Amino acid sequence: MRVTVLGVTIDTYSMAETVEKIKLAVQGRTAIRIVTANPEMIYASQYNPDLRDVLNSADIITADGIGVVWAVRQLGVQIKERVTGIDLVQSLFPIANTKKWRIYFLGGRPGVAELAVKKVSSDYPAITFSFSHGYFSSEEEADILKKITDFQPDVLLVGLGAPRQEFWLKEHPGLAYAGIGVGGSFDALAGTVQRAPKKIQDLHVEWLYRLLKEPWRWKRQTVLPRFLFEVLWQRFKLKTF
Ligand code: UDP
Repeated sequence: MRVTVLGVTIDTYSMAETVEKIKLAVQGRTAIRIVTANPEMIYASQYNPDLRDVLNSADIITADGIGVVWAVRQLGVQIKERVTGIDLVQSLFPIANTKKWRIYFLGGRPGVAELAVKKVSSDYPAITFSFSHGYFSSEEEADILKKITDFQPDVLLVGLGAPRQEFWLKEHPGLAYAGIGVGGSFDALAGTVQRAPKKIQDLHVEWLYRLLKEPWRWKRQTVLPRFLFEVLWQRFKLKTF
């Protein structure tokens, strides 16, 4: 089921359903693009039609975070859970290992994707990895594109920061069967940024944990109350007019 939240179409797939769709794309050799849409991106897309088009033209747009799950429910649509970039990536590894997929990590500071590959490979030795860091110039981009094309990944994970990674994936289609924007996931996989403990994640206050750990993010997080307000306004308009 799909629902439009502030102009962005969100799929209500669960994690298992999202993984299944990606598996089918890889097996069927059809290229798909996946966006994990967080409140910040959805909010910004109201004022940026190019961004809205990039999000809405993706094949799968997941609800990244409890704020988006809440928004979907406010609009009267059922949704089981959030599907964040890092959780999706971690849910893909077991199947990727069984199917011996090839996965490319693009993004993060120099050394981070490499460290992430090392850590993940030790748990999932049947996956073949390649990687590039995310601080390249426009001149260096051609070499990266060649490296990815030569590697022929099944899955291309792009962690260049939102929304740059979403634009980048749209501008470079067909590099892999599944192209996914994953934000800071390589930092989490490498262990350079710690995720909130499971208990805090389950309480749905991971955003608060991140705010305390990375206080410079506070400005980004001021979007959340505005996002929630706009969603209530959308619901009000739907009911009234
Ligand atoms: N990043 C990058 N190249 C850049 C800017 C950022 O590879 O030019 C990476 C950065 O190292 C980090 C990620 O993008 O790993 C941050 O993305 P975002 O802020 O979307 O992630 P979030 O923290 O929201 O998951």
